[in-house]
Order: sequence, then C-alpha cells, then structure tokens
Amino acid sequence: MSNEQRNVARTTVPTRESRLNTITAYVGSGNEIAGKARGGCLLQQDRRFSQAAACAEMMPLCNSALIDGNVVIAHSPAGCSGMLILIGMVGRAGRLMRGLPEKNVQGISTNLDERDVVYGGAEELEKAILEADARYSPPAITIITSCASGIIGDDVDSIVRSLQPRVKAALIPIQCEGFRSGVVSTGYDAFLSALLGVIDPPKRKRKDTLLLINPLSISRPNEVEIERLLGELGLKAQWFPLFTDFKNVRNAAETAGVASLCSLMSNYFFKQFQEKFGVPYVDPPMPVGLEFTDWWLRQVGKMLGIEEKVEKLIESEHARVRPQIEELRSQLQGKRAYVGFNLEKSLSLQSLLTELGIETVVSTGFEYSDDYGLDRLENLNSRCGGNFTLHIGNFQHFEWAHLFNREKPDMLVGGLELGGAALRQGVPVAPVLPGTFYIGYDGAVNYGREIVKALRNTSYSRNLAQRVKLPYRASWFRQKTHKYIGRSES
Ligand code: SF4
Repeated sequence: MSNEQRNVARTTVPTRESRLNTITAYVGSGNEIAGKARGGCLLQQDRRFSQAAACAEMMPLCNSALIDGNVVIAHSPAGCSGMLILIGMVGRAGRLMRGLPEKNVQGISTNLDERDVVYGGAEELEKAILEADARYSPPAITIITSCASGIIGDDVDSIVRSLQPRVKAALIPIQCEGFRSGVVSTGYDAFLSALLGVIDPPKRKRKDTLLLINPLSISRPNEVEIERLLGELGLKAQWFPLFTDFKNVRNAAETAGVASLCSLMSNYFFKQFQEKFGVPYVDPPMPVGLEFTDWWLRQVGKMLGIEEKVEKLIESEHARVRPQIEELRSQLQGKRAYVGFNLEKSLSLQSLLTELGIETVVSTGFEYSDDYGLDRLENLNSRCGGNFTLHIGNFQHFEWAHLFNREKPDMLVGGLELGGAALRQGVPVAPVLPGTFYIGYDGAVNYGREIVKALRNTSYSRNLAQRVKLPYRASWFRQKTHKYIGRSES
C-alpha cells in the first residue's frame, strides 16, 4: 500500500481517565486498593497540591524518535521537545547495544512562538515536514502535537493529507496534546494507535514469530533473555517498534501473536491490533522474578497452543536458577525496600523482591488501572500479606520524601525518577536503569546480585544525606502522606 493510499485521518484516542478510570492520586494499603477496586469504588481523587507532573506528549515524542530512521517533528514551542536531549543519549546507547551504527535521534521542532499562536502554525509545520523529508529522506515522519498546536486548533491531519503526495516518507500524525490527559500513558495509546495506520495487512503469517512491544525502559540484555526463552520454545522474537527498521513496523501483522514486556504501554494497541488484523494477544505482567516470568510464559504458551513445552521450560529453568535465588535470599532476607516506577514495573519488581526475601514497605506507581494492576496486586497481596503502602502519584516528590522519612527503608529499588530523592534522604539505591538486566530467570539472579552489591557499601547515600538540606519543614513529616489527596465537593 502506498503512503498516499493510507488513510492518515485518525480519531483522537480516548484518555485513560475516561477509558479505564485510571487514577493518579491515592495512598492506601495493597489490600485496601484491591478491595476497593473489586468493589468498583476506587475513584480518582484530587490532589489539592501538586508538585510536578509528566506530560503525555512526551511518550510519542520519545518513543517515535527511537524508531530506526524515523524523523520526529514536535509541532510545539521548543521547550516541549526538551526530552529529545535525554532520549538522544538513551538512543545512542540502545543502538550500540543492538549492534546498530551510532546515530543521533532525528528531531525538528516547529518552535511555535507568540506570532504562531495568534496566526496559526500550519505554515511552520508544512515547512518542517518538507525540510525533514529533504534533509533526512526518512522512511517515516511522526508529527507530534502539543498544547499550543491544540489550543490554536491547527488541523494537523489535513495538513498531512495535503502534503503526503509531495513527500516520500510516510507521514504519521499523533494527537497527544499534553493538556488532554493527566495520565501520561494516554500518550502511549496515541503513539501505538497512530502506528496502526502504517502497518500493512499481512501477506503471510509467520507462525514461529512473536511480536513483542518493547518499552523504552527495557534494554537489550533484557530482550536477549526473552529471545533465549522463546528460542527454547522454537519461537523468534520480533521487536516492535523501538530500534527496529521501519519495514518491520510495516510487516508487524505477519506475526503468530503479540505480547508485551509492559502492558501499561500496549494495553490499548493490543485490542485495536486484534480488531484490525486478527492477531491474538496476551497481556501478562512484566516477566520479572520467577513467578511473574512463569505467568508471562504460560500466557504466551496458551495463546500459541504450546503449553506442554512451556511447562517443561519452566521446570528446567527453575531447577537451574532456584539454588542461586536461595543463595541470594540468605543474604537479603529481612531487608525492607521502597519500589518506585510505573505501577506495572513496581509490582513486577516487588514480586522478585518477595522471592529474594525482601519486604516491600512502599510501592509507588505513577498511575493505577484495574486492567493492568488488579490481578498483579491480588497476586502480591496473597504472597506478601497486602499491608504494604501502595502510593499512586505522578512525580510527587514531596510525597516520596514523606514516605522515605516515614518508612526508613533499607533501599530504594528505583530508577532515574526516584533515585536522587532517595539518596538525599540517606536511602541507598539498587538502581534499575536503562541498561540494567532484571527480566526473566537470569535477570532475576543478576538483579539480586546487583542489590547485594548496592547494599555492601552505603556510605554515598549516608554522606549525601548529611550534606543536603531538604526543602521541607519538619511539620510536613508529621502530617499524613495523603494530606493533599481527597475527593472534591461537587
Ligand atoms: S504539557 Fe503541553 S506545553 Fe507542557 S510539555 Fe507537554 S505539550 Fe508542551
């Protein structure tokens, strides 16, 4: 199908607040949240004071910049594309790990200013698209909308339709104005849903290939572990859409099925992909630790009718890694951890920590949805008692600080977002960074060893905490963590 034949007009995806009742503000125990969710009474609450928030535009911007060869155009003021600097570093490292030539992300901003906000930014966008096509000759150009382009009402879809015949690249508009949703992952829906428009109808089915959605935070060593496990089952992995050639995006529907390493990202895409191309999907938890990796493999096995093979694989992997997990458990038993990422990743890592004998006292998740939260949470409640604090908050540093101070954990299992906050309060970090290997059976052992290493010498966090003055009054730490969270009167 040629680019011109594609229907580039796309409806805007629903926000996660309206589609899934996703919440971004709550503090309760694991049991309390699961109980309320089961009873249908877990409602979004307001945060009367909010310190920070991430923006849903960031997801399509950063992710589409990592499709090999794609040029991303931020139709926005320059500041909205600031994350491309960080993604440039992540992208270069990710390419090297995958044996791809080192290359910067290719991005252009239309740099909307006061004049454009008054007279419209259509002309700037046209110029940017033609410039991107001429300068890079890319296979695809993603066009990311922003608050400014949304407010002034630039008709990006019709600009794209009128320009498509003049450029060689497939133009992919993505409607993701930051103000539309307080839930960052709505941006994932906008991104993957827009890619559906450039996937070709399958000419054949590759029965031995599983399409795997690869989130930004899953680095190459983790992909290699999944490839190893699928290889044992006689399957090949096709990664989609990051760090892959655009022709692999085009032929994505030729797969036997689709699964994800983080269903926070792909939840909406799976349903649309199945509807459009008849590709079956499974949406298990992130395969971290033995129990959740078993869960992930069993769902893949059921979808593809290879349950027996999967059971044999699980048995042999357990026999191989259990002694190593037991050895790590003997060193880590009784430690207390704070885990902080998006909820899917937090709960999956919590599952591994439980296997390592570590008690999770707080799990922070940036958002909660029953769709990709409840079954994992109930599993953990049954294994850990459900009395841990589950904190749902989107980049609320003051609440993290409160919880670090209240619980005084032995470590943070976290990444770039919470790491600095933990260190400033003297909490050592067992980091899960873009290069960390923690997925699957070998990942469980590797990350267990990383924790042992992180706890061996904690002087860095101790010294840092002695020299840092926190910006909070002592009275804040005497309040409840959820002081500013509540239902508004209507
Ligand atoms: S919230 Fe709006 S203005 Fe802020 S970065 Fe996101 S798109 Fe840009």
